Amino acid sequence: MLSSSTSTLRLHQPNRPHRPHPAAPAAGGATHLASPLRWRGHAPGAASLAPLRARAQRIRALDAAQPFDFESRAAGLLEERQRLKIAIVGFGNFGQFLARNFARQGHTLLAHSRTDHSALASTLGASFFTDPHDLCECHPDVVLLATSILSAEAVLRSLPVHRLRRNTLFVDVLSVKEFPKNLLLTSLPPDFDVICTHPMFGPESARDGWDGLPFVFDKVRVGDCPARRARAEAFLNIFEREGCRMVEMSCAEHDAHAAETQFLTHTVGRMLAMLELRSTPINTKGYETLLRLVDNTCSDSFDLYNGLFMYNKNSTELLNRLEWAMDSVKKKLFDGLHDVLRKQLFEGSPHAPNVSSSNVRK
Ligand code: NAP
Repeated sequence: MLSSSTSTLRLHQPNRPHRPHPAAPAAGGATHLASPLRWRGHAPGAASLAPLRARAQRIRALDAAQPFDFESRAAGLLEERQRLKIAIVGFGNFGQFLARNFARQGHTLLAHSRTDHSALASTLGASFFTDPHDLCECHPDVVLLATSILSAEAVLRSLPVHRLRRNTLFVDVLSVKEFPKNLLLTSLPPDFDVICTHPMFGPESARDGWDGLPFVFDKVRVGDCPARRARAEAFLNIFEREGCRMVEMSCAEHDAHAAETQFLTHTVGRMLAMLELRSTPINTKGYETLLRLVDNTCSDSFDLYNGLFMYNKNSTELLNRLEWAMDSVKKKLFDGLHDVLRKQLFEGSPHAPNVSSSNVRK
């Protein structure tokens, strides 16, 4: 049985990070228990007691270390189980950005892209494969699709998925969600698991870490067996450990919201960029927010922005509403201006136009 896609927004309760236990307590505990012996070591005739003392010290140190040792071994085992072999397909700006954090958490990384990024990959400890057959033959636990929205279909079709393990987990991080969901469901064998995700941040906006930033996911298809559920959780846990705000949401809901949160933001950022705004000596806070918006949005590729438009059916309506909003604001201004001009031109009273207050807003 497969877990089905969700239609309502649920906030995922994060399992807080399984941070490694500090090494200090074991050593500290042993020192503490052994201290009376050390004190006795200064008594007369201590030499004859030396072998006994050494044995007791060994035993006490062992006793003291055991609980800590057990805990740290259990934590180590858990860490081991959470560790994944992840193949990133599309090793561009965003793929590399994700890889840095994956590598820091100790996952094994493989990468494949149109361009040869092998030098960069090796700095992250990732193995780069120019041939997707070689990548698939490494049998990753997870294949992460991080290619551009526009190229996703062609890239997916170029993967020899028959070389992968029979129930590999596929995850995408595309900024639109209904399109990759349908693509993955129709292109992959039915035994593959599918999770559609969207980290709602990027290299610019998450320069200082991922803590508190939203991570949207939809477990589109996860096989109902413990190992497959555990693998899905281990993948999601990567983002929980970084402190992301985990938001479980259907792909359709994501796209409806993202037209506003993302496409609108990017469109306004790109419109402002056309104005070539510059910093001035009298910047207000509002103006600085606009300058930052230009930086945040225009550092992403135009392909990404174009993908937000082409593959989210809600974007066209958003563009229409944006135009309508601009026209409405202009109309309000010009209506007032026309009233003033009419009075000046035809009623001959330049200083006291009796303009209705409802037409001119401050
Ligand atoms: P992008 O321009 O959307 O994608 C660049 C990636 O697509 C590179 O790996 C590039 O490969 C590959 N690519 C482009 N055209 C291709 C083609 N014709 N054939 C094969 N591969 C092609 O920029 P991005 O910022 O790296 O985004 C990657 C994905 O992450 C996108 O789906 C985007 O929506 C998503 N995402 C991005 C952000 C962000 O802040 N940047 C945030 C969340 C999600 P090469 O490098 O090998 O040329």
